[in-house]
Amino acid sequence: MTTVAAYAVPAAKAPLERTTIERREVGEFDVLIDIKFAGICHSDIHQAREGWGEAIFPMVPGHEIAGIVSEVGAGVTRHQVGDRVGVGCLVDSCRECESCKAGEEQYCTGGNVGTYNSIGKDGEPTYGGYAEKVVVDENFVVRIPDALSLDVAAPLLCAGITTYSPLKHWNAGPGKKVAVLGMGGLGHMGVKIAHALGAEVTVLSQSLRKKDDGLKLGADHYYATSDEQTFKDLQGSFDLILSTVSAPLDFGAFLSLLKRDGALVNVGAPEEPIALNLFSVIAGRKTLAGSMIGGIAETQEMLDFCAEHGFGAEIEVISADQINEAYERVLSSDVRYRFVIDTETI
Ligand code: NAP
Ligand code: ZN
Ligand code: ZN
Repeated sequence: MTTVAAYAVPAAKAPLERTTIERREVGEFDVLIDIKFAGICHSDIHQAREGWGEAIFPMVPGHEIAGIVSEVGAGVTRHQVGDRVGVGCLVDSCRECESCKAGEEQYCTGGNVGTYNSIGKDGEPTYGGYAEKVVVDENFVVRIPDALSLDVAAPLLCAGITTYSPLKHWNAGPGKKVAVLGMGGLGHMGVKIAHALGAEVTVLSQSLRKKDDGLKLGADHYYATSDEQTFKDLQGSFDLILSTVSAPLDFGAFLSLLKRDGALVNVGAPEEPIALNLFSVIAGRKTLAGSMIGGIAETQEMLDFCAEHGFGAEIEVISADQINEAYERVLSSDVRYRFVIDTETI
């Protein structure tokens, strides 16, 4: 075991504080990573506050990890000491079920292991990226291309893949009108990726406060959902709407913005259920779907895609003692567009 410094939530809803945790010895197929940067995802906040149900405490959140390999087990073939690598939301899976075999480990039915707030195959709780180091099986570690600096790459490990995967699956590309609902951590990556895929991109945000940014990131149009006129102007407009909103929404109103056969794909994970009048999908043969992160191979594909197109996330680097303040700012939609912890400061 190795003792490493970390920031942890001691109990549900409590502020994060500095502590130490134990990392397992580097096993035959393990990689030891010196974490350099860890992104703050809204999912960290949902879980730290038990918004999704009972959680494991103390909790070290963080599933947007970028760092450098500092040791590898004897059987490791995919990574070497000195490599620039990333870890996202998963650190293991059953590897045998249909989803795992298809490279969709996020939908593993045999039981996958989350990077934190999960129980590992060794029976111990997993602890995430707000820490100095982490030990991860080599198959759940991806390569960060040289063209991406580690700080802007970190958020790609969740925000990047969570938007890339559904945009690809639902064929965002040339000739397609795609709306991104909510322009926070996930949403701003959705805008960049949908634009890079060649789609015509519209941002649907609560206000026009971030309009200039949205247009710079690649959006063609930008509307405020607080303005009723938006819903009149955009009736029946989109092939695809990607909702990244962290709070419950009136999906009926957004389904009305789809063309016939359009799809509203939700990746937001609000803590409360929503009510929906099902006529909003019946009329127009519309699809309401969901999507969860992405598989490991697709995460590598996404990193390579971002590197090729020359973009990472738009970030604000913070020190570890600013995490609690950053959580409050995320909760009030005051993030441009991802907080990234410089783990040297832990
Ligand atoms: P975030 O940075 O806080 O962004 C969420 C955005 O939603 C905000 O910037 C805001 O955009 C909009 N929003 C927030 N509250 C709203 C409200 N009451 N009404 C309307 N719009 C509102 O969060 P994030 O890190 O991108 O995560 C977004 C959600 O996705 C979270 O629930 C998170 O847990 C979930 N998530 C899911 C997956 C998955 O695999 N499916 C992966 C990662 C995260 P505007 O300011 O533009 O309106
Ligand atoms: Zn996340
Ligand atoms: Zn599986």
